Amino acid sequence: LVFETISKGFRAARERLTGKGELSEDVVDAALKDVRLSLLEADVEFRTVKKFLRDVKQRALGEEVQLVAKGKDKKKVRVRPEDHFVQICHEALVDLMGPVDTSLARANKGITGIMMVGLQGSGKTTTTGKLARKLQREGHSVMLVAADVYRPAAIHQLQVLGERLGVPVFAAPGANPVDICRDATEEASIKGVDFVIYDTAGRLTVDDALMAELENIQSSVHPANIFLVIDAMIGQDAVQTAKAFDERLDLTGVILTKLDGDARGGAALSIKATTGKPIKFLGMGEGLDKLDEFRPEGLAGRILGMGDLVGLMNDFQEVVDEEKAAADAEKMLGGGFGMDDFLQQIKTIQSMGSMRDLMDKMPLGSLFGGDIPDEVLEQAADDNELVKIEAMINSMTKKERADPELFLDESARSSVPAHAKLTRRKKRPRKPKAPDQLGPEDFIESRVQRVARGCGHQGEDVVALVSRFMVMRDMFGMLGDLMGGGGMLGKIP
Ligand code: GDP
Repeated sequence: LVFETISKGFRAARERLTGKGELSEDVVDAALKDVRLSLLEADVEFRTVKKFLRDVKQRALGEEVQLVAKGKDKKKVRVRPEDHFVQICHEALVDLMGPVDTSLARANKGITGIMMVGLQGSGKTTTTGKLARKLQREGHSVMLVAADVYRPAAIHQLQVLGERLGVPVFAAPGANPVDICRDATEEASIKGVDFVIYDTAGRLTVDDALMAELENIQSSVHPANIFLVIDAMIGQDAVQTAKAFDERLDLTGVILTKLDGDARGGAALSIKATTGKPIKFLGMGEGLDKLDEFRPEGLAGRILGMGDLVGLMNDFQEVVDEEKAAADAEKMLGGGFGMDDFLQQIKTIQSMGSMRDLMDKMPLGSLFGGDIPDEVLEQAADDNELVKIEAMINSMTKKERADPELFLDESARSSVPAHAKLTRRKKRPRKPKAPDQLGPEDFIESRVQRVARGCGHQGEDVVALVSRFMVMRDMFGMLGDLMGGGGMLGKIP
């Protein structure tokens, strides 16, 4: 998981605080030790680590501690020290990484330039394509400029990207990069293009000749945005690289790439603190749609296991139209959805890409103690599994699809929690079974077998599917409660 190394430390700290009466200095120091270790392990720059720990400690001890807050029902409830601590860490993380305005600066008139700079292999060209796609989807016209003349492969790579996106690429092999950028800008003006993205050359390390060239491009075309692309996997070196580029160019901000391949991601926490320049976007994969806006609140939530609902909803909007997304979300969160919706959701989720990344954005940390069961993720992400699920659902009756609870034995039925609106039973057993505790013994064998025969799968597969559905419905229902209840999630805009 992205940021797993850092999350681990906060989880350990939280556990250490659980059951403690208050946030005394001893207790806070002990908890911060766990946080410190994991931040260093995740390659967060050490001065940033110190600054962050000092900040958290001050807030935890200095503030008038609000141990009492108003609960949902207006009754006063005690805030547990571990929750208070997490809250403080959330604020401190947000302050460390933000504020960030992820909108692109626009030129006063005419075309808007975006200059991409960074070391070779950092993901500059790929990110150029991602930004072009994003702008295109927002309805802007875009032109790409191949200003990396030293690597012929780089020009070709950009041309391939341009072709895929249907975006014109300006290239002039052999010419001087400064001339290329100027000529491209001229052509873009004539064509009336909205945005021009300059993909400049990189080197393996920061060197003077490269910097001089970039400075010349900057003063020649005056791009409204200059983004430094940094590979998250270079760890500690990210800070040095950012400083070196920031000294020579008027950087607008940083784009941190390859976070999908790095569980540490420390640079995300250090860059703003060390350079004063915000991270604007995160690269979360090789695909052109894998560019996330950097939202400190969302990231802090993910790190602390509180989830990132805004990010989650953005992902939904990538693949479905907004109205449908809103309707789906409402249905899901209200708990009132059946098997057909479930199938639709799985399909949507699959087209959103990595299930792991998705679950990472859900506030499930507290549910599973940070560890989402692997089988839940992997099964749902598997194509063959989808075909199988579809066959089983098609083999159910209409009634069963609308209310899969019909598969459950009478005694197990109310194990589906009340917010699943489909259950309106008055009598509930004293100890309802959690949906993830359902076993074959809770199912009506004859029903299960009928469906299994109908689609050529095993009874246990049907049991597994319905159980998974129940767990999913329960999770979404809880999510809905959290959002509606103004709990912790209310704090995440
Ligand atoms: P450039 O030399 O800076 O232009 O780097 P490229 O755009 O050619 O990227 C170098 C490699 O990193 C390519 O194989 C890309 O597919 C890969 N890459 C770029 N961004 C990401 C990302 O966010 N995640 C992952 N996993 N790979 C990326």
